[in-house]
Amino acid sequence: MNMESLMEWAEEEETSSVQADKSYTQLETVQQMLLERIEGVCNTELLKIYIPRGSALIWTLRHEHGWDIDTLECDLHEHKNRQVKYVYNGRKY
Ligand SMILES: [Zn+2]
Repeated sequence: MNMESLMEWAEEEETSSVQADKSYTQLETVQQMLLERIEGVCNTELLKIYIPRGSALIWTLRHEHGWDIDTLECDLHEHKNRQVKYVYNGRKY
């Protein structure tokens, strides 16, 4: 193995661990928001804090954490287009 390919390998390692860390933090952020905001968390608010795939995180919370979360039409803001908000109802188990 020459020096160059060793460097590439090291860089790949770093990138993958950083990404895993980031998605874990995003999940925790969404959990925290759902717990604090009984009126619901709007999808656009997740976008504002750089969480573009809120629906994927909600799916994970529902299926892997047993959270009961409703997807409703957002009535927290005046949206031009239809937007959803996520409302936490408690844990199923
Ligand atoms: Zn909204």
